[in-house]
This record gives sequence, C-alpha cells and structure tokens, in this order.
Amino acid sequence: MVNIILKQPLSAALLKTPPSLKNFKKRREILKTLDEFLKIPNSEKDEDVIGYYRKMIDHALDRIEREEVKIGLTIWKLYSSGFIIKTPKTTFALDLCEGPNKDIYGKENVPFSFTLQQREKIAKLVDYSFHTHHHYDHISYQMVKELWGQKKKIIVTQQNKDCWKKEPFAEDLTVPNDKALFKRGDLKARVYHGWQHMNPETDDETRFYHFLSEPFEVQCNAYLITTDNNISILVKGDIFDGDEFSLYLKELKKSGAKIDLYLSSTCTARGKDIIKETERLFDPFFIPAHEWEFTHRKPDEEGAATQSYSELCSMFGKSALRGKATVLSWGERLHYNPKI
Ligand SMILES: [Zn+2]
Repeated sequence: MVNIILKQPLSAALLKTPPSLKNFKKRREILKTLDEFLKIPNSEKDEDVIGYYRKMIDHALDRIEREEVKIGLTIWKLYSSGFIIKTPKTTFALDLCEGPNKDIYGKENVPFSFTLQQREKIAKLVDYSFHTHHHYDHISYQMVKELWGQKKKIIVTQQNKDCWKKEPFAEDLTVPNDKALFKRGDLKARVYHGWQHMNPETDDETRFYHFLSEPFEVQCNAYLITTDNNISILVKGDIFDGDEFSLYLKELKKSGAKIDLYLSSTCTARGKDIIKETERLFDPFFIPAHEWEFTHRKPDEEGAATQSYSELCSMFGKSALRGKATVLSWGERLHYNPKI
C-alpha cells in the first residue's frame, strides 16, 4: 500500500493542529483519518505505516531534545502505552515500548519498532524509565538494553526482573517495594503492586510473553509519580480489576494524595470502572493509552486492535470539552500546566 496521504498530508495536518485544550473537535476528524489507515488488516506490517510511525517518533525526539520546559511539564506520546515526560529538571519515560516487535529478546526482526538511532537517542534523553509490567506492549528488551548501556535507571516488577535473570543488565533493574515511597533524583513515586489477572479462557497466551509457571497472574505496578514541580501522574498499566484498584484509589485519597494526570489504559475488566472512580475522587486530566496495540489484533483481521483514536475521543469527549482530557497519537505532545 503506497499511500500519499499517510506519507505527507496526515502528519502535516496533525503537526499543524497540535493537541491543545481548544481544538478537540478538529483533531477528532484528523485522528479519524489516521484510524482509517490503521484499521486495514496487517497495517502494522505496511511500510508506509511503519515509515509514518518512525517519522512521528523522530519528530518527537527532536522536540524533546530542543524543548526547554520552564513551567509544568511536556508529555510526548510514543507507541500505545509509552510516554516520555519532560519537567524543568528531569526527563522520564512511562511504559516505554516500541510496537509489535514480536521478540522480547530482540531475536526476531519485526520492522514495527524504533530504529537503532531512535533507541540511542531516547536512552540519551531519558533519565528514568518506569515500567508497569513485562508484557512487551509496556517494555522493550532492545530499549532496556540501550538504556542500561547508557547507565539509565530502569524500574520494573520482580516478575519482569525474573524474566530477564540471565541478562547482564538484570541486576541493575530496580524493583521498588509495595507501598514504598520511591525516590530517584528529582522524582518521587508511590508504588502499588497489583496484578493483571489474565483469563485463560479468552486471553490468547501466544500473543503475550510469559516465562513463568503461572502465566495468567501478571505482576503489574501502579506508580503515582510526583515531579520536581509537584505534579502527580498516575500510571497503572494493565491493572484491570476495578474493585481491587478502587480500594487503592480510596487509600490514596484518604492519605491526602492528589492525581493531576492520568496516563494509562482505560480498560476495566471487572468491578468498578477505574476511569470513573479516578475522575470522581481526583478529577485529573486524562491522556488515555493502550489504543492501537496491534498484537491484540489477529493476522488478517480488520479493526482497532485495542481502541482506535476515535473510540478514545468518544470516551473522553465530554472531559475534553471541559479541558480535562486529550487524545494523543504517535509522536504528539501536550504541554501541561496545572495553573492554567
Ligand atoms: Zn498492555
């Protein structure tokens, strides 16, 4: 599929209409066009789609390098659940991953990934990389190797560390304790050890990377990260049990914690709706994640894999119109200043 729209005008339209609190409706139309390309079966293997992805990542990396953040923070969206955040003093990543690049050990060469140069640049820019769990839509073996090579700090679950116990970098992976107040440099994080309870009936194991005897119980950390300028960001990865997680949210509320930003998956598999609970208790600004995670789509299947951008726009439309949400696509950024 050679597609002139994907090659040029679409990225130009998005870059000309960057996420802001004022242009949600206009952007929704542009993102719908992007959805139209991505929903085509096997689009993640299409060279134009991969080229577009890498171009948008390059654009983000150039901007991260150049941008000086004086107040608030700037958030860049990479693939699906991956973000890079820059504050006045530090740059850190959340669930930094590359795409449906099938082999967590880097042995299978699947083209939808960062380029070598992109990995090197990201590792240079990022000081800390927080990972909620070991599924490869939340971490990348090659990226971790590069971060480790450049002596950057990588924060993971114990299960994740166990998966890579034979790797030279394993002992340098940091596993914070449950309920710990974890401090690194200019960042503080409250850590919660949760689970992604997978369902053996419906979750296709071959789509995930399990090295453990109990593959359907996946350790998943939530981090409530407070930046050097006192902005609190919640990332919960794929903790999908709403009842379990809402207890933790209530605990946070009781302790006087605040959540300014919610950057994570929107899914609740059972129990209370996590998004609604977070909104009710903390009224944060939402940047939803986990959309267009291609490995959730079977080969030759059409559709949005997880969610499309349009679906996220519908889900968060009301919040966006009152200035409390936005939807970012690959490589896009939002400057967030809680004082505005
Ligand atoms: Zn996931």
